[in-house]
Amino acid sequence: MEGIDPKFLDAPPVQVTDQIIRFHGLNPGGHRINGNNNFLVGTGKSRILIDCGACEGNQEQSEKFVKSLIDYLQEHELTLSHILITHYHHDHLGNVPGVLSSLKDLGHNTEEIIVAKRLYKGAHVEDTMEIIKDKCVTKDLEDDEIIENETSKIQCLFTPGHCEDHMCYLLYPQSEDESYVIFSGDCVLGTPSGKFEELYDYMKSLYRIQSLCEKYPNLQICFGHSIDLEKEYIIMDAKSKIDDYIATRLEREEQIISKLLLTFRCYKICCFCGI
Ligand SMILES: [Zn+2]
Repeated sequence: MEGIDPKFLDAPPVQVTDQIIRFHGLNPGGHRINGNNNFLVGTGKSRILIDCGACEGNQEQSEKFVKSLIDYLQEHELTLSHILITHYHHDHLGNVPGVLSSLKDLGHNTEEIIVAKRLYKGAHVEDTMEIIKDKCVTKDLEDDEIIENETSKIQCLFTPGHCEDHMCYLLYPQSEDESYVIFSGDCVLGTPSGKFEELYDYMKSLYRIQSLCEKYPNLQICFGHSIDLEKEYIIMDAKSKIDDYIATRLEREEQIISKLLLTFRCYKICCFCGI
């Protein structure tokens, strides 16, 4: 993989908070920047996995991610209760079949694992769901739905804009010492700023996260991608990040409107003066 820093091809799991462990997707390159973050959540024997990214076009790296996750689960005698997917892109969903197959081969009862995401009718999602449908429970998530297992409680936040089925997930604290944490997928990145398909929806989603910063002052964000995934996986001050994101978007919008107005004025002058 030309031009890719080898440190992103083989990164170990990192304990981010008491409830959260980060697994690097080991899938750097292209739109994935230096790969994606996948998070194992909870403190009991049964955990929730948020995102399960693959390395499109590189089976070896995809399998390496599955192995790093499965080895960890085996070593700590853990299993999965849920796999929650932020959105349909391959680098967030593509390794669900691999993880389920590996767990099944090791004797885990995968039929009880709930694989959940916002409903999306894209071809590769339907292919993936078809492959896994007999190995687990599949579920379409509603906005504000609560997902719980023995130790963790998560609220689903429908946050379209990056793409039409994007969900963020809000993890509730287990004690007064912990903060609320949003798993932001590709809605909010570490660095650089996020990409979007629909600006109107995207801004609404950012404003929704901003309002949660008011509600939960110590809110933190675990994001999907960043420039240096070796060190970066959590934003401690969600409010400043979101305020910056929104300010940048509004500034760009202002620049575009000024440019359009200038172009339109020149066009009008040229038409009416006959030049
Ligand atoms: Zn992504």
